[in-house]
Amino acid sequence: MLKLSNWFKSFGDHEVLKDIHLEVPTGDVLTIIGSSGSGKSTLLRSINFLEPADKGKIQIDDVTKDVQTMKQEDILKLRRKTAMVFQNYALFSKKTALENVMESLLMVQNLPRAEAEEIAHHYLEQVGMGDRADYHTIHLSGGQQQRVGIARALAIEPKVILFDEPTSALDPELVSGILEIIQSIAHNNTTMLLVTHEMNFAKEVSDQVCFLENGVIVEKGDPNQIFNQPESERTKAFIQGII
Ligand code: ADP
Ligand code: MG
Repeated sequence: MLKLSNWFKSFGDHEVLKDIHLEVPTGDVLTIIGSSGSGKSTLLRSINFLEPADKGKIQIDDVTKDVQTMKQEDILKLRRKTAMVFQNYALFSKKTALENVMESLLMVQNLPRAEAEEIAHHYLEQVGMGDRADYHTIHLSGGQQQRVGIARALAIEPKVILFDEPTSALDPELVSGILEIIQSIAHNNTTMLLVTHEMNFAKEVSDQVCFLENGVIVEKGDPNQIFNQPESERTKAFIQGII
């Protein structure tokens, strides 16, 4: 499971995340919706320690840490439990699909090359990229690159996968293939946080949805509540604006 409490993050004097509380049971999907600039990416990036929070507690499975007192080794330990899938894929363009997926298996997990290669092949197969393993990612379409991005996240067998608008950069005809992959890996043992503007998909895949506005969770509930009977006028306005 993933739990955040009293979670704060500022950039200079701009408070971007304000007293966030979240609890996502193991294997559940929590979707975060909200306007551009509301702090969705910062929230995911803070869970991955790409942008460490200023204050708060984080729990992933059996490890609980206070960000103000945690040590570098605690950060590394928690970071290994999460993987991120980015809007712009964030692959090494001069490396092949296989090398991209192998990278953190070799560099972070220190696995022997043969084992890393086997794991990477397995996950590339899973996302339908088995026959493109040796392609440089620069020669892959956006949809194919995002498949590699997902394989890279799956390969480290994280407890939590953080998807930050994984289909926003794709041509419309490529979106559904990526959503199908996300659907197919959801509700296994991996907990998922998903930032998306694909509201129909969010309704289908999510166990919980939360609406973030100016760094505050305005409302949180099951998809039916958030999309069909939101309590907050602000949530209602956002949903009506986007659907
Ligand atoms: P969202 O993903 O919901 O669009 P972000 O988390 O990217 O929102 O951004 C939230 C706010 O934090 C925005 O006002 C943005 O300009 C600011 N912000 C994000 N990252 C940084 C950064 N590295 N430095 C300064 N401000 C940032
Ligand atoms: Mg964002």
